[in-house]
Amino acid sequence: MRGWILPPAREPVKTRDEFQRERAAKVEELARLGYIKSERIRRALLTVCREDFIPGPYRDYAYCEVPLPLPGERSTISCPHSYPLFYDPLGLDAGQRFLEVGLGSGYGTAVAREVVGAGGLVVAIEIDPVTYEFARANLARVGYDDVVLVNDDGGLGYPPLQPFDSISITAACKAVPAPLIDQLSPGGKLIAPVIAGQRQILVLTEKTATGGVRTEEICDVLYVPLRGKYVV
Ligand code: SAH
Repeated sequence: MRGWILPPAREPVKTRDEFQRERAAKVEELARLGYIKSERIRRALLTVCREDFIPGPYRDYAYCEVPLPLPGERSTISCPHSYPLFYDPLGLDAGQRFLEVGLGSGYGTAVAREVVGAGGLVVAIEIDPVTYEFARANLARVGYDDVVLVNDDGGLGYPPLQPFDSISITAACKAVPAPLIDQLSPGGKLIAPVIAGQRQILVLTEKTATGGVRTEEICDVLYVPLRGKYVV
């Protein structure tokens, strides 16, 4: 994978207190750099212990700006900054119905659940059964028992619980799968890495009140490719 330097696997030695200090410092840094603007997103990032979503050999790197490998075929937990990078332009907020395509570690799901709160809904879909089981166990262990987890092709969305106010795709696609646009509520927003030649561009798509779409390019990113029916 282009541009990905993996730190060496090692026995985790950091304590809860060390992780907590690193988490607070990381959130402060992301706010200073302009990635975090919403107070709800800031609080969610302070609340969720990222180290609980990372396999042992890489756990000590929880707050480093590097994607780390997860169990499964092609899964990584994204860099810490990528969560506010996705959730801020979405306008993720209390009470929303949120869909994540690419559950991965379950970390982004937990952060989203903290942001939308008890009045919202979080659905997360993972195509890889091994990765799915890893995330499910992480979320259960930490106590996130009110998120809907689905082991299927997220390109198809999740019709039983549509529409969604916000959708985040954390895998790179050639084009945003049509079912996901269909399952957005009017005024809803979707964010996804979209492949453009050698680049991947993070694109924000907004469904207008009349059902049209407006798109905005945010920045270049680097994600694993989307699998399933809408494969690259
Ligand atoms: N959001 C994750 C990062 C996941 S990496 C986290 O916070 O940890 C991207 C994930 O998307 C991988 O786990 C990969 O298996 C999954 N994926 C790829 N194609 C998919 C599809 N069509 N439907 C659902 N998940 C998919």
